[in-house]
Amino acid sequence: MTSERAKRFPLGLADLERKPRTSTAAPRAGSDERARARTNAAPREAGLLRADMPASHGLEKMGAPRMGAPNVALTGALALTSERVRERMVERLRTNGVLDARVLHAMSVVPRHMFVDPGLAAQAYEDAALPIGHQQTISKPSVVARMLELAAAGRELQRVLEIGTGCGYQAAVLSRMAGDVYSIERIKPLYERAKINLRPLRVPNIRLHYGDGRLGLPAAAPFDAIVIAAAGLDVPQALLEQLAIGGRLVAPVGAQSGQNQVLTLVERVSNSQWRESRLDRVFFVPLKSGVI
Ligand code: SAH
Repeated sequence: MTSERAKRFPLGLADLERKPRTSTAAPRAGSDERARARTNAAPREAGLLRADMPASHGLEKMGAPRMGAPNVALTGALALTSERVRERMVERLRTNGVLDARVLHAMSVVPRHMFVDPGLAAQAYEDAALPIGHQQTISKPSVVARMLELAAAGRELQRVLEIGTGCGYQAAVLSRMAGDVYSIERIKPLYERAKINLRPLRVPNIRLHYGDGRLGLPAAAPFDAIVIAAAGLDVPQALLEQLAIGGRLVAPVGAQSGQNQVLTLVERVSNSQWRESRLDRVFFVPLKSGVI
């Protein structure tokens, strides 16, 4: 297993941006080439932007080119997606109270701009949720950091379950903090999109599943941590049961209209006891049943 992994994982995430996508002897990819390769590999749906996005998002709505020759918007966006911009994002997280060095490190190496539409790449390191299509969003960096810090609580994480893969960003961050990451998505095109987004990162320890995350993954349980990236009225019982004793589950809980959601931490104290703490006010997309 280990040797197979080593074979499949020649690059660290941190190396990724500086190296070509394949291990063939292609010349080092420049920013524009990387962007084009990504755009070509992953054409996005035209209709994914919300009407209430700021004006700069209108570029894509108006049908600005996404493929072919670099355009001014793309070049400008790439200038904003460097490691230094990511470092500044991490600095802000630290200033705002994120202490866990593993969370900060993971977020400093995972290229968030590679998980959003190229037209939104310039905003990838702002503290904002961004649309990923199908009425879903990639969570704000500060919320991802908060949830993962709560889930980890300074412990070694072997197995982690994420509900709501979305574009795969949080799973990629988790993969730098845990032994094995399992992530479930109920919307087929997003599950496919996450696979495409994660492929160039060559992350060997993420297993993506298409299914209803409310049911968890009994075959892979118990989990040291479970992170739910969508808000339900309660935490599904199946997920509570799949938490290891001593494990921690973090989830937004509350009405799906979003007004009264509370980030909730559940710790499994014993076989039959769970302790719940209600923490921050948050705003997440709804946790839904079934698959589409
Ligand atoms: N972790 C993601 C956040 C995605 S938003 C990221 O880093 O971008 C939340 C996701 O939860 C959406 O993609 C939504 O489709 C998914 N979701 C909602 N209910 C679900 C369920 N029952 N099972 C699996 N995924 C679900």
